Amino acid sequence: METTVIIGASHGGVQVAASLREMNYSGRIILAAEEPHLPYHRPPLSKALLDPAQPDGLMLRPSAFYEQKDITLRLGKRVDAIDLDKHVVRFGSEEAIGFDHLVLATGARARIPRIEGINLRNVLTLRTLPDAKSLAASLTNAQDVVVLGAGMIGLEFAAVAARTGRRTTVIDATSRPLLRGLSPEMAQHLQQMHEANGVRFIFDDGIAAIEGNEAVTAVMTKSGQRIKADLVLVAVGVVPNVELAVAAGIEADNGIVVDTHLQTSHEGIYAIGDCAAFPANGGNRLRIESVQNATDHARTVAASIVGKRQPFNKVPWFWSDQYDAKLQIAGLWNGYDQAILRPSSNDGSFAYYLFANDKLLCVEAINAPGDHVAARKILSDGLDLRPEHLADPSFDPKLFMR
Ligand code: FAD
Repeated sequence: METTVIIGASHGGVQVAASLREMNYSGRIILAAEEPHLPYHRPPLSKALLDPAQPDGLMLRPSAFYEQKDITLRLGKRVDAIDLDKHVVRFGSEEAIGFDHLVLATGARARIPRIEGINLRNVLTLRTLPDAKSLAASLTNAQDVVVLGAGMIGLEFAAVAARTGRRTTVIDATSRPLLRGLSPEMAQHLQQMHEANGVRFIFDDGIAAIEGNEAVTAVMTKSGQRIKADLVLVAVGVVPNVELAVAAGIEADNGIVVDTHLQTSHEGIYAIGDCAAFPANGGNRLRIESVQNATDHARTVAASIVGKRQPFNKVPWFWSDQYDAKLQIAGLWNGYDQAILRPSSNDGSFAYYLFANDKLLCVEAINAPGDHVAARKILSDGLDLRPEHLADPSFDPKLFMR
């Protein structure tokens, strides 16, 4: 019987398995999961999971799903090697499974910078369920929280820490929050929102050392500022998990290199989600770290496996929750030359529409789901929304979609 092996059972890997069955794939599906727990949603790890009042509804699918769909989920099983000649994956030296199709959904891990004191107690990273549980436990006793990195995860955690009364400092080596992920206009808004909640930012400064005796007590910046800390979250980005692929001879370059069909340098072997560097934006290779990217990649690869090959061309979108703000982004902001602010109503919701040469590139919205949903449709259907449409105060993006 034909066999598809999927390495990595998170947002991407589980969606490949689910989509294959939805597309009536009748072969064997083996889903190899290094982590020992049922596959779970990662986004709540920096949001609801840190709030004990929130329910623990984390699982991507109930355990019965895998049985009902005849998906062999191998929990706690790390694939240690891929043999491309024999078309097998190996679990240790004992066990090998042959495959006809192979999907690498190995994701990414937290980047750990080489800094003196990085191994002190209460210096933590956040990627997995155990990471989140350790962080939540450390937060209980913390008063002075330092976050290294003003990216999405760092800011979400800073919001939780500040809101629950901790003195919170965010330090970043660049000049503003979310340098990679957000336009300067929206980043400034987020920064002000954090500052209004008591968060202190230090930009353009690196970390010289983390100080302490067993547990952390302070962070020393390169410019010589010592900041008291009894909890440090290191949130300075991720490293894609490419080593398994590279050892097998599959090409990687800041991610496993794939073509427009998400196929690697080897026929029948695909890479998706956080680990995949795919052509987007007129050919530039890109790695996108978002649930939507992983699940949309997964659907494209499942279609290829069942013989309905199609190029990947989905509009990227992302969300983040900080305080009472739901940030939603559709498209990619880089390269814009005009930002138009559209206040939705009197409730504080708004959206920035970002254009390049009068062509819509991206919409960043706060508590404005109507703008976000419309933006996704406008971008994916290539509708001709122009800056002059937004100049009309009665402009309604929902009506424009029709
Ligand atoms: P991953 O989720 O990284 O999963 C890869 C899996 O593969 C892991 O379980 C890993 O253990 C396993 N694996 C690796 N190597 C092997 C091997 N050799 N054998 C077996 N298994 C292996 N995205 C959003 O869109 N919105 C958000 O609000 C958001 N918030 C986030 C908050 C946090 C705290 C984090 C950490 C991420 C957040 N993200 C968010 C990003 C999102 O979770 C990722 O983009 C998504 O998880 C990527 O899915 P993936 O399947 O590609 O990889």
